[in-house]
Amino acid sequence: MPAAPSNTARAKAPHPADLIEAGRALNTARTAFSDKTSISEQGADLERHNTVIIGAGQAGLSVSYHLKSRGVGHIVLDSANRIGDTWRNRWDSLRLFTPAKFDGLDGFPFPAGKDEFPTKDQMADYLEGYAARFELPVRLNSPVRKLRRCEAGFEVLTEKGAILAKHVVVAAASYQKPRIPPIASSLDSAISQIHSRDYKAPKQIPEGRVLLVGAGNSGAEIAMDLAKTHDVVLAGRDVGHVPFDISGFMGRKMLVRLVIRGMFHHVLTMRTPMGRKFRSKMHDRGMPLIRTRPGQFERAGVRRVGRILSFDGDTAVSDSGDRTRFDSVIWCTGYHSGFDWIDLPVLDERGAPRHRFGKASDVDGLYFAGIHFQYAVSSTMVAGVGRDARRVADWVAARPALSSSPTLNPNRRKIS
Ligand SMILES: Cc1cc2nc3c(=O)[nH]c(=O)nc-3n(C[C@H](O)[C@H](O)[C@H](O)COP(=O)(O)OP(=O)(O)OC[C@H]3O[C@@H](n4cnc5c(N)ncnc54)[C@H](O)[C@@H]3O)c2cc1C
Repeated sequence: MPAAPSNTARAKAPHPADLIEAGRALNTARTAFSDKTSISEQGADLERHNTVIIGAGQAGLSVSYHLKSRGVGHIVLDSANRIGDTWRNRWDSLRLFTPAKFDGLDGFPFPAGKDEFPTKDQMADYLEGYAARFELPVRLNSPVRKLRRCEAGFEVLTEKGAILAKHVVVAAASYQKPRIPPIASSLDSAISQIHSRDYKAPKQIPEGRVLLVGAGNSGAEIAMDLAKTHDVVLAGRDVGHVPFDISGFMGRKMLVRLVIRGMFHHVLTMRTPMGRKFRSKMHDRGMPLIRTRPGQFERAGVRRVGRILSFDGDTAVSDSGDRTRFDSVIWCTGYHSGFDWIDLPVLDERGAPRHRFGKASDVDGLYFAGIHFQYAVSSTMVAGVGRDARRVADWVAARPALSSSPTLNPNRRKIS
């Protein structure tokens, strides 16, 4: 196992894209695919892997690490052109709400003081460094357009060609496509509106009063970011909050462990009645506020109103009876997983996968990682994704491999 790299060593580490392009582990098939005919029916000379992981965020990298440690041949496909871009593209002032001691993936602790809250760019660089450190076989600029069944198992269709796999792990998270409620279409076209995914900094928002719709963690944090420069109204129901300051002395030293390790990882799981109850509540209400508490809104001058029911020109009408005039809107209404490219009978009526702890209920050989409450609240968090990834890797390793897997690297080192 390599030692933790120093900053200098990390700066010199090859860019993961270079590792891939050097062809160390990969052998891209150039077969163009037809959307209508199954690739196996086209009889093309195909690239095959035992396992394809879709998504090279923390979930995909974790599964890759654990597959590699079990000697299972695989590749990781990601549509981004750089590992960590999901984090890099989030708003400028974002810091993780989890301290560094809970921001490391298996095998490589986060390189910062354990009680520090990393910036989003530090997190992005950490993920990039993680892939480079363990030489994980990531292939960037490879959006998967379709996933479907074939004789060999699965066809994974990308713009560059098709790949056959015995197993597929979808690690494309629950945060892929902005969720925007239908009332957005009734907003006057002259009014600026964006989703929180596209929010970067206060200077991007027109002067005056900004209405933030959705009072979960993103809404709360963006409200605080904007409060110094804008008149901010935060609309949405109260989702509750962690009852202490996570960045205070006691919070950092003790209480945050209680919440993240204790509650989110060990207590609120699919195996406990309390966890299952919390899960169905979370579906409707989202997570409680982790960093922001109601008193902070008041002190910062952020006004709270209820859920927005309709718009009347530049005025929003909420279920608390308030009529609020505004100049711009930010939708902090969350995401959906955007699994519309999965052409398999695996999604429920909400578009969420039917699974047990990440193993698809109706499709053999298909797994998920990093999805909401895969096993516990912590499943979508850095601190929790490793446990789920280990379980998925164990399932994959226990199933027979593809008979031929030409891209496996015979010199691959085992991770101990
Ligand atoms: C604003 C915000 C703050 C957060 N803060 C914290 C925090 O402080 N601590 C914490 O533990 N968690 C936090 N989280 C939760 C979670 O850790 C992050 O959302 C994290 O990015 C999830 O990692 P992931 O690997 O599951 O998904 P992602 O990081 O979204 O990675 C998925 C990858 O899949 C790729 N992909 C998607 N579809 C395809 C496709 N069809 N083909 C190929 N590639 C595809 C994407 O390009 C992406 O790289 C936060 C979430 C948000 C939204």
